[in-house]
Amino acid sequence: MVYEGEFDLKTKGEPDVLDITDNVKAILKKSGITSGICCVFLAGSTGAITTIEYESGVINDLKRAIERMAPKGIEYEHDRAWGDGNGFSHVRSALLGTSFSAPVRNGELVLGTWQQIVFVECDNRPRRRTIHVQIVGE
Ligand code: ZN
Repeated sequence: MVYEGEFDLKTKGEPDVLDITDNVKAILKKSGITSGICCVFLAGSTGAITTIEYESGVINDLKRAIERMAPKGIEYEHDRAWGDGNGFSHVRSALLGTSFSAPVRNGELVLGTWQQIVFVECDNRPRRRTIHVQIVGE
C-alpha cells in the first residue's frame, strides 16, 4: 500500500536545523506499514532535508560548513534577477537536497542510533514549511 502524510514546521530563517525524526516516526506508526520505504520530502527550493547526530556541537559544525560551501555576502546571479537576496539559500538547498528516504523494517525506520532526520532552513527569512511523507510498503 501507499500511505501519505504531512506535517508543518515553523522555522526561524537560516541557519535553523530542526529535528523532525519524531514527526516522521509518528506518521510511519499511523500508516501501519511494517516493511517498505519511507520518503520525506520538502516541496520547496530554499530548504533541505538530511540526517545528522542532533547534538549542538555538530549542528554548529554543519552550519559553518554550509556557510563555507555557499557563503552569504558574495554575488549570486539569482539576486540580480529576483532581488530577494536568497541566491545562497537556493544553492544550499540544491547541494544538500530536499529529500531523505530510509527502509522500514519491522515497523521501524532503519536509522543509526545517533542519526536523526533534520530539516535545514536555508531561506533568509522565517518560513512555514509543509513536509511530505510517503510510505510505500505492506
Ligand atoms: Zn529566491
